[in-house]
Amino acid sequence: LEPKEEFSHKTLAMDVMRPRRSDPPLSVITQDGMSVEEVESLIAETSYSGFPVVVSHESQRLVGFVQRRDLVISIENARQRQEGVVSASRIFFTEYIPPQPPNSPPPLKLRGIMDLSPFTVTDHTAMDIVVDIFRKLGLRQCLVTHNGRLLGIITKKDILKHMAQMANRDPDSILFN
Ligand code: ADP
Repeated sequence: LEPKEEFSHKTLAMDVMRPRRSDPPLSVITQDGMSVEEVESLIAETSYSGFPVVVSHESQRLVGFVQRRDLVISIENARQRQEGVVSASRIFFTEYIPPQPPNSPPPLKLRGIMDLSPFTVTDHTAMDIVVDIFRKLGLRQCLVTHNGRLLGIITKKDILKHMAQMANRDPDSILFN
């Protein structure tokens, strides 16, 4: 991110975050109960670098963030080495793993690969502040919430694209200092 370019104060996190109104919803993983198979399809059907982990689809409360490559490696390893982990095994990002129903395959515990405190901003945060945080903390992505509910995600590329768009459309909306 070029330090010279600054956003005008009018641009907010909600203007840059994905998904857009017309996009499919954010791809998230729930903290308990998804099967290995379900997570593998999510990985196969999307190309995102990572997935927010939430308490439930209903609550959209953020628990953490998991990188795609860590998920892929952990599932592969578990399938190869961990006694009994199969497609139907449940994946848990929680600390406590409830007893599994009789005759169900052993669960896969993945809390260890989750970032427990991913950076978040609210949807009303001014983008110049978001950009500043990206630069200073060297972030690759940041999650966007509203009243504690997960709304979206902003990646470094999203910011760069938005900056380029703004520069084309309305050069005055970017302040050069
Ligand atoms: P990059 O922006 O570097 O290409 P990604 O491949 O992770 O990084 O993201 C591609 C696009 O999808 C970006 O616009 C980003 O905001 C969005 N995105 C990232 N992760 C998710 C997700 N889990 N669900 C929905 N959209 C996402």
